[in-house]
Amino acid sequence: MKAIRRFTVRTVLPEPLRQLEELVLNLRWSWHHETLDLFRAVDPALWKAVHHDPVRLLGEVAPERLARLADDRRFLRRLQDTAEDLHEYLTAPRWYQARRDTPKAIAYFSPEYGITAALPQYSGGLGILAGDHLKTASDMGVPIIGVGLLYRHGYFSQSLSPDGWQLERYPPIDPNGLPLTLLREPDGAPVRVAVGLPKGKGLHAQVWVARVGRVPQLLLDSDVEENDRSARDVTDRLYGGGGDHRLLQEMLLGIGGVRAIRAYCRVTGHPAPEVFHTNEGHAGFLGLERIRELADEDGLSFDEALEAVRAGTVFTTHTPVPAGIDRFPRDLIGRYFGGSNEEERVPVDRILALGAEDYPGGDRTVFNMAVMGMRLAQRVNGVSELHGRVSREMFGGLWGGFDTDEVPVGSITNGVHAGTWVAREILELAARELPSIVESGQGWEEVRTRPGTELWRIRGVLRRRLVLEARRRLRESWRQRGASEAEVAWTDHALDPDVLTIGFARRVPSYKRLTLMMSDPDRLRALLLDEERPVQIVVAGKAHPADEGGKRLIQEIVRFSGREDVRHRIVFLPDYDMALGQLMVQGCDVWMNNPLRPLEACGTSGMKSALNGGLNLSILDGWWDEWYDGQNGWAIPSADGLASPDRRDELEAAALYELIEDHVAVTFYDRDASGLPRRWLEMVKHTIATLGPKVLASRMLRDYVDELYTPAAAAARAMTADKFAGARALAAWKQRVRRAWPDVAVEHVESDGADSPQVGARLTVRAVVALGGLDPDDVAVEVVYGRVDDSDALVAPSYLELAEGEPAGNGRRRYAGEVPLGRSGAFGYSVRVVPNHPLLSGRAELGLVALPPAPPGMTNGDLR
Ligand SMILES: *Cc1c(COP(=O)(O)O)cnc(C)c1O
Repeated sequence: MKAIRRFTVRTVLPEPLRQLEELVLNLRWSWHHETLDLFRAVDPALWKAVHHDPVRLLGEVAPERLARLADDRRFLRRLQDTAEDLHEYLTAPRWYQARRDTPKAIAYFSPEYGITAALPQYSGGLGILAGDHLKTASDMGVPIIGVGLLYRHGYFSQSLSPDGWQLERYPPIDPNGLPLTLLREPDGAPVRVAVGLPKGKGLHAQVWVARVGRVPQLLLDSDVEENDRSARDVTDRLYGGGGDHRLLQEMLLGIGGVRAIRAYCRVTGHPAPEVFHTNEGHAGFLGLERIRELADEDGLSFDEALEAVRAGTVFTTHTPVPAGIDRFPRDLIGRYFGGSNEEERVPVDRILALGAEDYPGGDRTVFNMAVMGMRLAQRVNGVSELHGRVSREMFGGLWGGFDTDEVPVGSITNGVHAGTWVAREILELAARELPSIVESGQGWEEVRTRPGTELWRIRGVLRRRLVLEARRRLRESWRQRGASEAEVAWTDHALDPDVLTIGFARRVPSYKRLTLMMSDPDRLRALLLDEERPVQIVVAGKAHPADEGGKRLIQEIVRFSGREDVRHRIVFLPDYDMALGQLMVQGCDVWMNNPLRPLEACGTSGMKSALNGGLNLSILDGWWDEWYDGQNGWAIPSADGLASPDRRDELEAAALYELIEDHVAVTFYDRDASGLPRRWLEMVKHTIATLGPKVLASRMLRDYVDELYTPAAAAARAMTADKFAGARALAAWKQRVRRAWPDVAVEHVESDGADSPQVGARLTVRAVVALGGLDPDDVAVEVVYGRVDDSDALVAPSYLELAEGEPAGNGRRRYAGEVPLGRSGAFGYSVRVVPNHPLLSGRAELGLVALPPAPPGMTNGDLR
């Protein structure tokens, strides 16, 4: 008979070993090698058998072994040292503690987190980034509280059928067998949060707390008694199901997440977050819950609460791929947030308006979570400079009337957590030879002065480790697909520890083009089997369970890599997860990435490779578009203007083969008398010296703190001070401005000084503006000027505020100013009126602008 439930009974540790439990319960071990060493020492054979999972280790270690350790002076001393080190790590002041005016706490919401392979609560880049964000916050002392869901089946584990088709398994997890504790009330009862559902029902959840170093992470879990069957399954798996299921997950994450934070702060005395950061739109309902809190508890109107919430909210968008953006049918939202479940002060029509695509080209039938995210957050960013630009285009409709450049979506380029992704050997080499990098983040340029011999030796160690582990996994996968022992003997010689190794690992949505390398199989074969300069490729990736197309691509790769002539040079390793990712980014010489530009928002795996001394070979997309400098790797030329996708693939693939053959392989195999690839090592050192400081998540987190969190906290304080006087005033002002705006107009514009204009001259611009009943203080009148293109459009214009002059009768007013003619060539200008208030984040915030009437022959569009 099968058990219907399983759980893990925790060992009672002998008193002298009690600190082991503390060490296990803090996930800092996932990036702290000394702690892992200590776990290994508990029972080296068992450590291997439990796949380096410390909770299982403690669950399964024999009592006799524990008794022996409890008497082992040396082990106890080590335990003591490691525990003290953790305590120091958790309490000493860090980078953040020396900053001023920073938020007391920040809530960070994400639907997935990649902390360690032992917690499979992530599917790809979004989750890995969230995990790196929390770990880095911990390292820097940034007071973040992470919020997410605990999925009972996590993300699937991948294997292959005999004919190479992806198979999915969802191994159940047992929270008691994970480094989690249940959040409890002071009386010991587990904390419950509930989210209201239609027909008076509720969705209940308990809250698990993980400790990611200094950072508490709250994970909501709907598998509790109070729920009926279907409600229990809400957190069954990551991104499971569609429609209702997904919506319920997001309601629990957003609304339940805020309630979980309130409970956590109440029980532990943790300061309340001043800033709420949402990692992609999935958690967007958190804004609605905060509006409800302010309306119910502080008596604010919806609009006033909206202003207070917006000021303290940061929204990060993560994808330019429309399918990656969460959209629900409007009537589904209506059903869940309206009717008997409608909150009196959060009317469903206001909710619907927040997610409406009510701009040209939008779909009126959907509710768009990213659009709501942008309307609920005063600060919005993409995750690389290029992605910022693409997002400004993509979401520009929300700020109609403004040039794309003015759309208030910025960017902070992602980074990666070194402790997690950099090989221990490399970290130790850095600590030995360049301690200033490790201790203070300074001195990266010094890398160039080192001979590189030791680095090259370590690269060899890492490549060999990858090859050996790849053989083991390959054998296991073939066995599991039904091959006999004799049939898998060849895997002992698959891959070669001395051959140039290219890695390609990622999720398999179509824009990532898993099979681009196979566009010309003969050419690929020739590269792999080259007599003098062979290449080997390690491929990994999971397709979304519902993505048949992606599974076909995997099957194509699996079939090709099974061919007898090439199978020792190209392998597909199933079940790409953090552990395999670490192995690959550390062991591969080259990290290849060939997405359809510009659909890769950032991409972070190449950053991990760079920190380990790998070189990138990539389409200029995401972060690579920003930081490729001609010396730090190779750019695959992109044919992104091309209309025919097949032709585009063909061209880009041809360029890829050529690069590998003529540049990558040539440089790798060009050895000096001592066997070192001089030129290659120069490139590697250059990569580490220049990219090192940029790709680190500590740089990313500094940017978030300085550019987003701190300003957001200041804005939120300005709204809440004095019983929300700021929020009340701003809401009233916005309403007044929106009402008056149809009557605001630029009625007349004239200029002089432009008869025979010369560089250095000044142009006097005068305008008459109808204020529609607004005060002059409510608006800014600006001259927009600069170079114009052939169609008279202003290119990257400058803005100058005109000075307010005399009234001109009928509520109109004169304005004037002088524009410097700073450059020769075609020049143009226009005048515009925009709302102006000290609590706005920028000119475009309201999406309102008044422009002069179009001159004959021009449309208003030309004037923008
Ligand atoms: C780093 C990482 C990712 C994200 O990398 P991309 O370059 O965005 O594909 C995804 N999955 C795993 C397991 C990773 O380690």
